[in-house]
Amino acid sequence: MSDIRHRPRSEQLYEEAQRHIVGGVNSPSRSFKAVGGGAPVFMARGQGAYFWDVDGNRYIDYLAAYGPIILGHAHPHVTEAICKAAADGTLYGTPTAHENVFASMLKEAIPSLDKVRFVNSGTEAVMTTIRVARAYTGRDKIIKFAGCYHGHSDLVLVAAGSGPSTLGIPDSAGIPVSIAHEVITVPFNDLAALELALDRWGSETAAVMVEPIVGNFGMVMPEPGFLEGLCRMARAHGALVIYDEVITGFRFHFGAAQTFAGGGFPDFAAIEPDLTALGKIIGGGLPIGAYGGRRDIMERVAPLGPAYQAGTMAGNPASIRAGIACLKTLRQPGVYAKLDALASRLEAGLAEGARRHGVPLTINRIGGALSTHFCDHPIRSYEDAQRADGDRFARFFRLMLEQGICLAPSKYEAWFLTIAHTEADVDETIAAADRAFAAMAQ
Ligand code: PLP
Repeated sequence: MSDIRHRPRSEQLYEEAQRHIVGGVNSPSRSFKAVGGGAPVFMARGQGAYFWDVDGNRYIDYLAAYGPIILGHAHPHVTEAICKAAADGTLYGTPTAHENVFASMLKEAIPSLDKVRFVNSGTEAVMTTIRVARAYTGRDKIIKFAGCYHGHSDLVLVAAGSGPSTLGIPDSAGIPVSIAHEVITVPFNDLAALELALDRWGSETAAVMVEPIVGNFGMVMPEPGFLEGLCRMARAHGALVIYDEVITGFRFHFGAAQTFAGGGFPDFAAIEPDLTALGKIIGGGLPIGAYGGRRDIMERVAPLGPAYQAGTMAGNPASIRAGIACLKTLRQPGVYAKLDALASRLEAGLAEGARRHGVPLTINRIGGALSTHFCDHPIRSYEDAQRADGDRFARFFRLMLEQGICLAPSKYEAWFLTIAHTEADVDETIAAADRAFAAMAQ
């Protein structure tokens, strides 16, 4: 093992990658730009809660590939399903029985899904729910919430201007201003702002889209009454409600945020969205997305209806079989209680360490996912998260990495526990954080 602070092979590979791959990475969130730059760590192998980089260093993984790897790396059930699928041929371009099995598993766990369709990513799933909502309502505009990430399709890469609501400006070059004008962004947890937006644009709005529990500016719970008010207001204006459950699906219990009741959380189950987008966990680590919802809305999709959506790779046997294996494993008793207990232990240890060293830290935790914000105010909106100290996060991120703890390189991303983590892993992480806080306090 080399000194973990020096990763010569990763640096060499990054240099090479930059010659061939734009920015050296195949998704910008993997770059270390937001945490001071330099070579990202090139991983060679993952097993359970750990991965090993190309220099031979071991890390405890809290990235979980930005969420899908809830069973840990190379879980034997998923590996077996993928191997069997590969042996049977990877792609047919025909329907398979596995798709029926998987669709009914999803429907059983999430009853608002009368009908589903499998696609290849969360981006595709969300993008299509918007198309279907537009086809169903005959309207063009979408209302979304600031800081909620819904993938990289044109319509949802638009963030808020200031004020309670505003016509969006594109977050990315290459998005026509005309498209950005079809998106209205309002602050999360702010029903008054939503009401203003709907009063002005409600009759043109096809859908209000939301992450029912936010996972993209930290983990943020909707305040009591927010989702209920959102659904009531949207429907009063004839707009559909789309839940983006790409992160939340099967994250906190065997179901989605919309079926998440009890346990001290608000009663989500009383409100049902019209359409839902899924991804991440449901593929067991292989590429997947799915969308679904009310029968009369979904029947607008081709070949039954005029809203076109298709995919050469969609419903591919490997992703579907990996997804079935993943969900079957998650359905076993005690899985979510374990994730919750581990994350709770981690939260308590991090909070105690930060307090002891006088480092301001707000932790938001929901089940097995948590987020750390270097600030002393609560995080209930994107604006709150923006005001947390990014430089401090960057320092913390690097101090943790140097001790073999792998977090996402962004102050907005969550930490995800997996069923492969142990109390010993969590305690090792707390001890590393304690040393990091001590260094930061100096
Ligand atoms: N929706 C949410 C809530 C997400 O967090 C993400 C990705 O992080 C997406 C959609 C896009 O999913 P994908 O990266 O699979 O395209």
